[in-house]
Amino acid sequence: MFSLDKLVRPNIQRLTPYSCARDEFKGRAAKVFLDANENPYNTPFNRYPDPLQEELKAKLAPVKGVAPQCIFLGNGSDEAIDLVYRIFCEPGRDNVVAIAPTYGMYSVCADINDVEYRAVPLRQDFTLDADALLSATDSRTKVIWLCSPNNPTGNALERAAVERIIKEFQGIVVVDEAYSDFNDLRPFRLDLDRFPNIIVLNTFSKLWASAAIRLGMAFASPEIIALFNKVKYPYNVNILTLKQAVAMLSDLQHINLWRATLLKERSHLLPAIAELPICKAVYPTDANFFLARVTDANDIYRYLVDNGIIVRNRSRVELCDNCLRFTIGTPEENNALLGALRRYRR
Ligand SMILES: *Cc1c(COP(=O)(O)O)cnc(C)c1O
Repeated sequence: MFSLDKLVRPNIQRLTPYSCARDEFKGRAAKVFLDANENPYNTPFNRYPDPLQEELKAKLAPVKGVAPQCIFLGNGSDEAIDLVYRIFCEPGRDNVVAIAPTYGMYSVCADINDVEYRAVPLRQDFTLDADALLSATDSRTKVIWLCSPNNPTGNALERAAVERIIKEFQGIVVVDEAYSDFNDLRPFRLDLDRFPNIIVLNTFSKLWASAAIRLGMAFASPEIIALFNKVKYPYNVNILTLKQAVAMLSDLQHINLWRATLLKERSHLLPAIAELPICKAVYPTDANFFLARVTDANDIYRYLVDNGIIVRNRSRVELCDNCLRFTIGTPEENNALLGALRRYRR
């Protein structure tokens, strides 16, 4: 049976979190705030922001289909990734298991926290090998990292395989769904009730077009979210970010228009790239980017840079020999890319 208590580091279990002035004062409306050593001038920037971002969570909950008490907000998904290590993984003792290739921050945060990172390759076609992942775990494995759609391969992981891992592994399974807005698959955040051991990550950086404000989300059981709240910096999301996120949430039409445009562009760009003589394979994608295997990734990458076009060279990444990763841009940007690649001569 899954037991959250057994997974949490003892020092985190024992921790008395920082109590801020606004935590202690709760409830009755007040007009005079002389409790936090703030400057009374320069409204609204003079006041500390809400440590639990309640207004934003109330607006986000119906959009995401997740209860407010199941939401953590942080300084990008990166904060949530780091907190997972700090809450569950004893430095120098515990380990985590992850698919490979995948998003680089999982292993960087493992290194920062001195936690062993066990990378288990996907199959050659980038599908998930649940058996291989489960056999890489042992009694000190606290977390399994999954990313779906996966970065940099672009494909969503097969749900049945992900569910098998969630059910058979007695630790935490993180499902990073940063790109789940770009497909019609059922996102795992809607299944928190069925799976007490999952943490689902979402971000404002991709479809929501707000990478600059640094706002990431984690969805999990209220018990796991309480642990995040205990360990995070007290005021981890600033007022500028909060205001901008609330503004984005009041204009969902934009989001839907962007999604439709990007998906349409994706459906044009993919086959056009696949037809180029330099292209050996384009991999199926469920995200706003795709991976292509080309004749000479390093040379084509440099050629594109010389033409003012930056793509991601993934050719040194496991299973991604000679692969470039292309983000879907505006129609003009995608045409510029296509034109440049058509003019490429070796
Ligand atoms: C882009 C991306 C994120 C977003 O990270 P932020 O810190 O929220 O900007 C998270 N996970 C994956 C897999 C990504 O590719």
